[in-house]
Formats: sequence, C-alpha cells, structure tokens
Amino acid sequence: MTSDILDVALIGAGIMSATLGTLLRKLEPSFRVAVFERLDRVAAEASDAWNNAGTGHSGYCELNYTPARDDGSVDCAKAIQVASQFGLSLELWRSLVASGDLPAATTFVREVPHLSFVWGEDDVAYLEARHAGLSRSSLFAGLELTTDRARIAEWMPLVMEGRSRALPVAATRMSRGTDVNFGALTRALVASLAAQPEVEVHLSHEVRDIRRDDHVWAIDVCDLTTLEERTIRARFLFIGAGGYSLHLLEKSGIPEAEGYGAFPVSGQWLRCTRRAVVSRHHAKVYGKAEVGAPPMSVPHLDSRWIGGERELLFGPYAGFTTKFLKGGSWLDLVRSIGVGNVGPVVSAGMENLDLTRYLVGQAMLSVDERIALLRKYYPEASSDDWEVMVAGLRVQIIKADKSGLGDLRFGTEVVTSSDGTIAALLGASPGASTAVAIMVDLVSRCFPESFASAAWRGRLARLLPGSA
Ligand SMILES: Cc1cc2nc3c(=O)[nH]c(=O)nc-3n(C[C@H](O)[C@H](O)[C@H](O)COP(=O)(O)OP(=O)(O)OC[C@H]3O[C@@H](n4cnc5c(N)ncnc54)[C@H](O)[C@@H]3O)c2cc1C
Repeated sequence: MTSDILDVALIGAGIMSATLGTLLRKLEPSFRVAVFERLDRVAAEASDAWNNAGTGHSGYCELNYTPARDDGSVDCAKAIQVASQFGLSLELWRSLVASGDLPAATTFVREVPHLSFVWGEDDVAYLEARHAGLSRSSLFAGLELTTDRARIAEWMPLVMEGRSRALPVAATRMSRGTDVNFGALTRALVASLAAQPEVEVHLSHEVRDIRRDDHVWAIDVCDLTTLEERTIRARFLFIGAGGYSLHLLEKSGIPEAEGYGAFPVSGQWLRCTRRAVVSRHHAKVYGKAEVGAPPMSVPHLDSRWIGGERELLFGPYAGFTTKFLKGGSWLDLVRSIGVGNVGPVVSAGMENLDLTRYLVGQAMLSVDERIALLRKYYPEASSDDWEVMVAGLRVQIIKADKSGLGDLRFGTEVVTSSDGTIAALLGASPGASTAVAIMVDLVSRCFPESFASAAWRGRLARLLPGSA
C-alpha cells in the first residue's frame, strides 16, 4: 500500500464511490486514487442486484414522485428532475461502453417497460391527471395511458387475469424504461478503475477512524485478513459507506456533520421461482403506496435481468431493523445516537411513531399475508411459486431543524466541508439511478476551480455531451 499522500480516498465500493472514482479519474487522469471496502467483494451491500429493485428511476412509473395537489392536478417537478438525472447516468454509461471502460451495455442495463397501475375512481382520476401533467414535458414523450381492460391485459396479463370487474382500472406505460443491475455495473466500474496504474482497490479493508492532520485527511484502515492497521493520507476523502456513512462522517469532526441522525428501513421481496410465470411478465408495474407506508415502499411487480436470466420480484415489504448495513450490527441504531443528535433523533422518533408501528407490522407479516398483498397485483398468484428474500437496507436521514427538533427525510443528501476536502453521501432515494448527477454536483462543489477550468469542462463534455 502506498505510504505517501493520495489525491483521492474513497470509502466503500458501492455504486457511489465507483461512479465518483470513475468521474474523477476521467477529469484528472493524474489523480492517485484508492478505494477501501470492508467486505471481500465489491458491491455486496445496497448496490448488489438482489438488494435493490434495479429500476432505472426515471419518474415514468413511480407514483410517489408525483403527488396530487388539492385542486386535483399533479405536481410533476420531482419526476421531471429524476428523469433528467437518470438521462445523465445513461449518457455516462454510453460513453464508458464506447471507450471500452465498461463491457456491453446488456451486461448491466436492459429495456423493460415501466408501467403504473391503479384501481378505484379516485386513483384512476389521479393517474389521468398525472399523465396529462407529465405529457407536457418532452422527457415523457411516448407515455401511453389507457383505462381499457383488454389493452392493460396485453401490457400485463398476470395483473389482469382473475381481476374483479367491480372497480375501474387505469395504467400508463413507457416502453423505454430500464432495469439496471447496479451490482454488475459497480463491479465493472471498479474493475476498470483497478486496472489503471494510479488506482488501488483494497477489499477486506475497514476504515476505522478519520481525522484532519496537517491539511490532509488521516484515515485509519484495518486489513481484516491480517488485522494490521495503517494510516493512509489523502487530500480529498469521499465517504460512500452506505448505511455507515454518518458514523464515519461524525468522526471527521467537521461542523457540517452536526445534528444528523439516521433511521434504518429494511426490505424484503417475494421472488418468483416458477419459470413459466416469470416468462409471462415483462414490465416493472408500480402501484400506490399503502396508507402509512414510507414513500420508498411502493409495491411493484418487477421484471429483472440478473446474471443473464429473467427474474420476477414483488415488493419491497419494508421492515423495522436496528442495523445500518445488511452485514452490520444490531447495535448500529443505538450507537448512532450521541450528545450531538439525541434531540433530533428522539423527536423524529416521537413524530414518526406511526411509521415505526407500520414497519414493525410489516416485519411480522406471515407468508400468507405477503401473498395477499401480492394478489392485489397478481390475483392468481400461488404461494407455492414464491419465496421470501431479504433485500438491502435504506438508512434515512434525520436532520435537526432550527428549533433542534428532528426532521425525517427520505431523499439523499451530500454533506461537504466548507473547504471541499471531504464529502459524504447520506440517505438512499432515488438512489443508484441518480449516482451520476449526484457525483457531478459533488465534484463541482469540492473541486470548484478545476471544475470551471477549460480542461475539466472539455473532458466532462466528452463524457456527458448533454451537460455541456
Ligand atoms: C430495497 C431497496 C430497493 C432499492 N431500489 C432501487 C432502485 O430500484 N433503483 C435505484 O436507483 N436505487 C434503488 N435503491 C437504492 C440503491 O440501492 C442505493 O442508493 C445505492 O446502492 C447506494 O449505493 P452506495 O454506494 O451509497 O452504498 P452501498 O452499495 O451500500 O455501498 C457502501 C459500501 O461501503 C462499505 N463500507 C461501509 N462501512 C465501511 C468502512 N468503515 N470501511 C470500508 N468500507 C465500508 C460497505 O461494505 C458497502 O460495500 C434501493 C435500495 C434498497 C435497499
């Protein structure tokens, strides 16, 4: 391992560090970069394929991005923002495939139509208003809407077979939606980085402490195979440790880290084990979240491409947990509470007792209860054809407001120091799909002078022609 000063150290080998490392090496090919990952495999936490839904979030089908207004119209701003952010991700991946940095696109991204499906008069009216609102943006050109049962049955036969005719139904469909294997993508990005002369990737290396030391970041790293500890120095540090990011950010001692807390939400899927059923569904069908459910627990019946095979998932069922990573500790939640954030965490907990009750209830669902929810989307589902799988964790942010009370947030937040030498990604949604937009913004904040230079602007324009 290098003993002198690195330009960039990245904690965690998930999609966020992989994307940032790739961008920085493209913008400044002389940068010396090192990645430290506590597990013995790249992308084994939230970024792994089975740990997330693999939806290339574009706002086409996710109803939680388009809330209804009181007058019956629909607020489309978030969906439009997510659509343009995902467009940036697609651009970077296209550039990297063209330059040979990534393998063929089909190894990590496939076209899978994105559909929304609702029932009942109110929700049909909502979907019609949503379609009208989104259709005003060119990003949503081609979004189809129908209330015709036969047409919906062509789009998603499993959803319509055996469905009662008592309630009206409606659906929208975007044929150019995507399914992304973020695990395969992350592994390909990290493999490409590792093959470069100025880059080191250290698996089974856990970052234990961080401190400012003579204008650089001193990072204490433990090699988990030999238990040897070393201190690495870097001019710029990114904390992309997923659920463990807040814990590491607090160690940095920067004032911007104060007042944050974290609240984990676990996830489970039903995975279809019958190939004959899997092959009859080719879509990501999103519905409305249940009353009381957190916004990211919108149920969906989801075609996936994993390891070259078609798969079918239903979920996610949210659940209560005290771990911050799938491979984390049951004590994570307790350990995350300290003098600096006890007020916001406790007040957010009191404010969100209904959510906690909902999550505990979800975690205790029996298989039959899970199948009953599945049957709202696939009425003829047989419990013999589905197995329960544990998904990844999302650690939501709690942030102190001006009065010191905690506000539970469901988005992502990049925290940077005032001098731009350290950054951390907190939160989990919309997640991996928007990694490129998040990281371009982070680079502009942490490397403002280089980012404005002609050299970096030119290189960025070649990577992301749409951003020029
Ligand atoms: C159920 C579920 C469904 C989702 N669905 C979607 C979806 O459909 N579309 C979408 O775009 N996003 C989705 N997401 C969100 C997406 O998965 C995440 O936003 C994304 O994977 C986060 O990537 P990351 O790199 O920040 O974290 P991770 O992939 O979790 O990587 C963090 C890494 O840091 C490592 N680490 C932690 N602590 C240390 C340490 N001290 N030292 C060294 N290494 C450390 C961990 O081992 C891990 O490998 C979903 C998430 C969940 C949980």
